Amino acid sequence: MACVSTALIIGGSIAGLSTAIALSRVGVSCDVVELAEAPGGASIALSGRATQALDELGVYDACAAGSTVFLPGSTVVDQMDAAGNLISEGPKRPLLPGVKDAIGVYRPVFLATLQEAAQQLGAKVYRGVTARSTDERDDGVFVTMTDGRQARYDMVVGADGIGSRTRTRLFPDAPTPAYSGQYSLRWMMSGPRIDGEGWYIGPAGRLGFYHLPGGLTYIPAVIDMPERVHLTDEDVYSLFARLLDSYTAPAVVEMRRRLTRDADLIGRPFEWILLPVPWHRGRTILVGDAAHATTAHMGMGGGMALEDAVVLAQCVSDAPTLDAAFGTFMERRHSRVATVVETSVELSRLEQAGAPTSENVGLLSKAFQALGQPY
Ligand SMILES: Cc1cc2nc3c(=O)[nH]c(=O)nc-3n(C[C@H](O)[C@H](O)[C@H](O)COP(=O)(O)OP(=O)(O)OC[C@H]3O[C@@H](n4cnc5c(N)ncnc54)[C@H](O)[C@@H]3O)c2cc1C
Repeated sequence: MACVSTALIIGGSIAGLSTAIALSRVGVSCDVVELAEAPGGASIALSGRATQALDELGVYDACAAGSTVFLPGSTVVDQMDAAGNLISEGPKRPLLPGVKDAIGVYRPVFLATLQEAAQQLGAKVYRGVTARSTDERDDGVFVTMTDGRQARYDMVVGADGIGSRTRTRLFPDAPTPAYSGQYSLRWMMSGPRIDGEGWYIGPAGRLGFYHLPGGLTYIPAVIDMPERVHLTDEDVYSLFARLLDSYTAPAVVEMRRRLTRDADLIGRPFEWILLPVPWHRGRTILVGDAAHATTAHMGMGGGMALEDAVVLAQCVSDAPTLDAAFGTFMERRHSRVATVVETSVELSRLEQAGAPTSENVGLLSKAFQALGQPY
């Protein structure tokens, strides 16, 4: 039996909804508050043990049904030069016996699947709502919501992402996210498939693509920018257009032909944070990007959030007290997520330094090997 009966989860994205599923499955009654009225974002690839976590949450099949499944030997990690010539077959992901295939999934579809699963298990999800005030006492955390509702919880989970207000409330002196020197540009492109999935590496920046169900293609790109600046929609379009213009690879030339000013583009700085231990105080703990956000160079941040959810529920289920559960959670999670954050930031640095591709591939392969170990 779990050492707590009720939990409030602040943030209803990957970490929050998967924590709601995991805790509900061990008998904890969960409320989730999420500021966004509806899930948004581009695509996400879930690989390594992230798919094992989805399986343990009981949602892998539902998620895979709306996804692109990357079979072993998939070419989405191959690396090409600006003209489209193959440079390397990409970092080798270790084959993990018994672990399901990696998937690529449109985030709104993925989050809708997680939300439905959480609600089926009895969790309540309040959108457009957050915690206005929290008062922690010996017998629980008393919370007033922005919709006026008041409730008492045995534990609170801060899953409110890189800009976490829960983190600031718990640890006012915690470091703030650091800028990596690179921006992420993403495009959800509609239309017929283009051949040549993989990553393209040119002097103006990198970009990749893979196809999703429903006639969508996900095109993530990375460019160097020494300063963190505010980008308007027009800036994001211009940066994307300039990047595509610097390539002669046929796939990228075709993307450029299709790029229009009303394309579904997102531009944001790559920032990261690795909160020093512990990530908990009193009855509240942080999970996902609220505790450990990273650049997307490994594509594992979301996977770490899923693993956090599974491990937190195991700890809460097995430990006699919440303190003991949080202690075990930290022991099991810290070094694993540190590998992801530190490797990702180093990969970003190597790209900016113009290091040979083989250095990045070597570092990535080593980290994938380490993360192939059970969580
Ligand atoms: C460009 C890019 C590409 C990426 N690609 C991948 C990938 O392919 N694979 C992968 O595994 N990872 C990837 N990641 C990382 C991944 O997106 C994150 O690690 C993941 O989204 C973290 O989930 P989270 O729930 O912790 O945080 P978030 O997804 O940031 O969600 C936080 C949620 O909290 C809500 N919120 C914020 N404040 C409050 C509040 N006060 N009250 C209530 N709700 C609040 C927000 O609205 C949001 O819904 C990528 C990241 C980036 C930037």
